[in-house]
Amino acid sequence: MAAETIYESTVPWNPRRPDTVIISCVDGRWRAQIQEFTVNYLKTDLHADFLAVPGGIEPLTLFDLVPKDFNFFKRRLESLIEAHGTKRIVAIAHQDCAWYRERRLFSLTVDLKERQISDLRRVAARLRDMLPDITVETYYARLEGTDPGRVVFEPV
Ligand SMILES: [Zn+2]
Repeated sequence: MAAETIYESTVPWNPRRPDTVIISCVDGRWRAQIQEFTVNYLKTDLHADFLAVPGGIEPLTLFDLVPKDFNFFKRRLESLIEAHGTKRIVAIAHQDCAWYRERRLFSLTVDLKERQISDLRRVAARLRDMLPDITVETYYARLEGTDPGRVVFEPV
């Protein structure tokens, strides 16, 4: 016997597999703006796949340093790509990322943004090598202005 239904979504079910996966940090402060950017500017489907862990693509930089984190992320991304026929990977980093701030394994003289951009570039190069048929795009989201700031996106 089926369990009692407590809620029915008003969003229609779309069985088509998305051809884009968005990789970002889990930080909910940035989620609505990232979704708006990917739909309005990148013209991805509203139901694009979304792969989020704290720090976004950071585990893919850990091939040598923390291979188990690298492999955890890589296996799931590869499985998704195989199941969905993914054609496009969009990786987005954001300003003031707590994961990066709290795990400064690198020199304190290196700016956080610089580090995140360098990671995006390294990972994009690795993904393009691993997955030559897939388009890889990278972006950095930051705040501009104050009270309240606006979220803006830069290509990396
Ligand atoms: Zn973050």
